[in-house]
Amino acid sequence: MTIFEYAPAPETTRANVRKEYGLFIDGKWMAPASGRYFETVNPATEEVLAKVGHGDATDVDRAVRAARRAYEKYWRKMKPAERAKYLYRISRTLVERSRELAVLETMDGGKPVKESRDFDVPMSAAHFFYYAGWADKLEYAMRAGETPRPVGVAGQIVPWNFPLLMAAWKIAPALACGNTVVLKPAETTPLTALALAQIIEEADLPPGTVNVVTGDDTTGAALVEHEEVDKIAFTGSTEVGKRIARTTAGTRKRLTLELGGKAAHILFSDAPLDQAIEGVVNGIYFNQGHVCCAGSRLLVQESIHDEVVVRLTERIQTLRLGDPLDKNTDIGAINSKSQRDKILDLVRSGIDEGATLVQQACQIPERGYYFPASFFTGVQQSHRIAREEIFGPVLSVLTFRTADEAVEKANNTPYGLSAGVWTDKGSKNMYIAQRLKAGVVWCNTFNLFDPSSPFGGYRESGFGREGGVHGLKEYLAC
Ligand code: NAD
Repeated sequence: MTIFEYAPAPETTRANVRKEYGLFIDGKWMAPASGRYFETVNPATEEVLAKVGHGDATDVDRAVRAARRAYEKYWRKMKPAERAKYLYRISRTLVERSRELAVLETMDGGKPVKESRDFDVPMSAAHFFYYAGWADKLEYAMRAGETPRPVGVAGQIVPWNFPLLMAAWKIAPALACGNTVVLKPAETTPLTALALAQIIEEADLPPGTVNVVTGDDTTGAALVEHEEVDKIAFTGSTEVGKRIARTTAGTRKRLTLELGGKAAHILFSDAPLDQAIEGVVNGIYFNQGHVCCAGSRLLVQESIHDEVVVRLTERIQTLRLGDPLDKNTDIGAINSKSQRDKILDLVRSGIDEGATLVQQACQIPERGYYFPASFFTGVQQSHRIAREEIFGPVLSVLTFRTADEAVEKANNTPYGLSAGVWTDKGSKNMYIAQRLKAGVVWCNTFNLFDPSSPFGGYRESGFGREGGVHGLKEYLAC
């Protein structure tokens, strides 16, 4: 098989990174109360990009109070069509600044620029655009006789894998419904949330409508514990989600949790294999596998197992790993050193427990955190790599013989966020999809998203939905 050589295709757009960022509270940029800052690093080069304010409980309190004032004084009372204008304005600016934001997302998070350019940023703009359309039609989201009312101040906490998109998923529906927001970005990827704060400032939203408080887990915990917060929307790990559920239990706070996953990707022997292999590759190697809904367990019908392994082995050799700012790159940098260590630990456990590791042959850059596209064969249900979320470019291949066995194995996980099915029989697709305990089931495709389509989990993948009319209702009290 010929493997093409690609000339470098470096991204030429530059992102404007400030040396230091404060917190965005009450429409103003301010230093954190403690005077403490933390560094955010480019994981592809290990270079420090900027110093970012470390918000503590005092800053969170300021932000929540500002959000409450903005809620009572302006945003709740504003005519819905007026609110929509602001959301359209944010969406338009995201589009206008899309290339620069894509570069910033890639520098701060390590994902290939073709993904931030073609997925993260356009999807973020699309969410603001979509929810802008809902702002003056909220009564159509309700049952007859119900009046849409906002919830109040929403505390929103997001992870590092889709920093701008997760912020957009959360902020857009909250604002459309008349709520105000305090957002806490992840510690390794604060820059695009801060760029979004700049866009919100330029869009001239009333001060305090959206506040961005950067920091770590203690900042997030202060937001969760704050008495004036009416709703917590959390996306992140199941472990932290459980802690938040315990903290908010018995309070009047509303809660939605978007947590981890260990999705089954089921491949029947009658599947269109060329397309299915592409779906499997996209399902696990997109964003280096830092995807909550990644198809990280491949269930292959036994009769095609060997052929699938051969095809996958060949296909991963053609993936290009390296500089995320090169437009040809498929596999960028792992988001942080600690995440790479976690991947290494789980891969070691796979080898120790007897599975066979297959990896792409490639040159790993000397600096930065990288991990090659990999998969394991000979995986048993009991292996850690079949049960735990790796959150890296590592696929676990298991086999099944009958449709019922596929369903049983797919559902044999504490998670339930997403799943995929590949078969050329429409009826079989439907039969299996109905039996899978997952919030999203993709049939003969994978990783397809749309702002109008709800997304969320079952069981330890959380509860509540984001996207579509379902995501809107999470921000309405009725
Ligand atoms: P994480 O839970 O460690 O952190 C997520 C966010 O929560 C960060 O902003 C962090 O600072 C904050 N945080 C940490 N401890 C906290 C606490 N005690 N109280 C309040 N906030 C706290 O998760 P992560 O490692 O950043 O992200 C990866 C995880 O996110 C994976 O498990 C992934 O599956 C999940 N995820 C889920 C979805 C979804 O929609 N279901 C989407 C993306 C990521």
